[in-house]
Amino acid sequence: MIVDQQNPAPYVPAAERYEDAQFRRCGSSGLKLSPISLGLWHNFGDDKPLAVQRGIIRRAFDRGVTHFDLANNYGPPAGSAEENFGRILRRDFSGHRDKMVISSKAGWYMWDGPYGFGGSRKYLMSSLDQSLERLGLDYVDIFYHHRPDPDTPLEESMYALRDIVASGKALYVGISSYGPQLTAEAAEIMAGEGVPLLIHQPSYSLVNRWVEQPDESGSSLLEAAADNGLGVIAFSPLAQGLLTDRYLDGVPEGSRAGSGKMNRDFLSRENLEMVAGLNEIARERGQSLAQMAIAWVLRDQGPETVTSTIIGASSVEQLDTNLDALGNLDFDTDELRRIDEIAHDAGINQWAGATESRTSAE
Ligand code: NAP
Repeated sequence: MIVDQQNPAPYVPAAERYEDAQFRRCGSSGLKLSPISLGLWHNFGDDKPLAVQRGIIRRAFDRGVTHFDLANNYGPPAGSAEENFGRILRRDFSGHRDKMVISSKAGWYMWDGPYGFGGSRKYLMSSLDQSLERLGLDYVDIFYHHRPDPDTPLEESMYALRDIVASGKALYVGISSYGPQLTAEAAEIMAGEGVPLLIHQPSYSLVNRWVEQPDESGSSLLEAAADNGLGVIAFSPLAQGLLTDRYLDGVPEGSRAGSGKMNRDFLSRENLEMVAGLNEIARERGQSLAQMAIAWVLRDQGPETVTSTIIGASSVEQLDTNLDALGNLDFDTDELRRIDEIAHDAGINQWAGATESRTSAE
């Protein structure tokens, strides 16, 4: 148990937090999300001081971030991010629950035996109960199936999500890392049940553009989501830190790559040269590379515009820098062309293999 002795004062959120805040409607739902959401995958486990965690979450809320994204397995150890966030909620946000959108997920490995991973009704339902216990909440706002499961019929996972909404343990449900065709099938099942999928959570960044590419159905994920009324919330817009100045002069101790939480192969010479080139374009735009990378994910793409992007931050300074990206989300054609000349797939989509599953036709 981590005791935070550095922040004894009661938290009073900044009164002006919504003044300049922008919100985007999530798909065809009535829910609006902050364009930048905060993710607790790394940086909120028991290996990080609770005082730092509290500082980041308070600052995010003070700056108009309403959405906080978790999963059963975030930590380390798995589950500790939900426990720590629960502590922070109780201590600082008890009067503010209705101003926050809190999500959790299940799909990846969580506990041993056959019921601790995948997409079965058994796993999804028991995992959500455990997440609520750790968070100290009666419900999450969004509950996701974290990845397609080739061993579970799609209907079983979707009906579990439907029944989770009916039970009141989640207000909305979504899917993550599903490919375009499977997304369309899942959306159709849920529309038929009267519980539309709210949102899709895919990886997406300047150097990982799988969501733009059509699959065998002829649609890209961005098209499939738009066609079916799902919002899109893109995770890892900074490619876990690659698309920042973090690694331009080596691998800092304590960084995600430096602490073994990110594959060092992502920092190949070729990738770092690409990052240096993108850094130059960002500088000309008057942005840091992190800001340009976030702005690019949030850029206007018409009906396929991303609703929100989930960033990670290991400090308040990183968070502040990243939130300042909202100051300029516009790109002219020449900038986009120059970016596309430099940016290419960096081979960092570690979730790529998860996009397929048994379809309802099987
Ligand atoms: P990210 O924003 O691409 O990477 C965040 C990391 O980049 C930070 O921890 C920090 O690394 C570095 N960073 C951030 N801002 C920086 C800045 N201004 N300057 C220099 N370095 C900076 O996002 P992510 O953490 O990979 O993922 C974000 C969230 O997406 C997760 O927390 C989770 O909620 C969600 N997610 C979902 C899935 C899924 O399967 N659905 C998978 C992955 C992530 P250091 O720690 O080195 O400082």
